[in-house]
Amino acid sequence: MKKIITASLLLSTLSASAAPGSKFLSINSQIFEKIKHQLDSKPQSISSNDKVTVIELKDSQVEEVSAIIHKRLNRCGGFMAHESLLEAQEGLKQSIQTPVDPSIEYTINQQETVQAMVSDIKEENIREMITNLSNFETRYYTSKTGVESSIYIQKTWAKLAKHRSDVKVELFQHKGFPQASIIMTILGSEKPDEIIILGGHADSISDEHMAPGADDNASGIASITEVIRSLMDHDFRPKRTIKFMGYAAEEVGLFGSQEIARSFRKVQSKVVGVMQLDMTLFKGTVDKDIVLISDYTNKEQNKFLGRLIDEYVKV
Ligand SMILES: [Zn+2]
Repeated sequence: MKKIITASLLLSTLSASAAPGSKFLSINSQIFEKIKHQLDSKPQSISSNDKVTVIELKDSQVEEVSAIIHKRLNRCGGFMAHESLLEAQEGLKQSIQTPVDPSIEYTINQQETVQAMVSDIKEENIREMITNLSNFETRYYTSKTGVESSIYIQKTWAKLAKHRSDVKVELFQHKGFPQASIIMTILGSEKPDEIIILGGHADSISDEHMAPGADDNASGIASITEVIRSLMDHDFRPKRTIKFMGYAAEEVGLFGSQEIARSFRKVQSKVVGVMQLDMTLFKGTVDKDIVLISDYTNKEQNKFLGRLIDEYVKV
């Protein structure tokens, strides 16, 4: 069973700060309605529309929100944490929808190359990586094993690319917490300035208990790792630059990917496509093999992903 979740990285600006030890959350309005009565803190909506509600919570209560979404709704994410109210309210604007870039052509014309790499994907490699990541007691963003697990992913990806001088694998160190994100870059041969991102979150949820997070989200990172293995073994040389990312601190409000997105905006990086893999191991609440998220994602890219699934996965 596979669910593929695509998500655009949301970009926003910093402004008036939350009280010390507090965060503003922009949360999916439907999710908020479902969970608000189960939260001990009984948070009030500061502003909302049918898609997004903004609330303020203490840091410890952010973890309560995350835990309830996982336990009661059997899903991951659904909210972003912010230091400022203005930044949180960016999520209320329709304009944050990813614009369709008319210069991007979505065509399927590389069947021979792609089919060879798809046929080479090995289930046992994905299982092994899930097991190795799950063996960390937790991959929580402030824990020692959370820090170590990101270094393990970086070393694993670097080993797969050790014969390639056009590939680098780096740790992206964050400002407010010790766990790093991982970024692997394959430089494009014809359009190196145009960037395609394939990512998933590397952290897991708990700092107090064992949190192997095999499905959420060792599975996504393991799938990405096997894609990297196949691309490297087939000596794949992309025309555009491809970046593989393992995000730190997703479970507490997408901190890792937010900071990376801001750093990309600061230097005006041209990101032409983003896909995120989350919970690719376990069948969730819907009776589907693969699910594409349709809010805050690019419609044209989603259509293209659907056609790619028909062409190569056939489910
Ligand atoms: Zn997840």
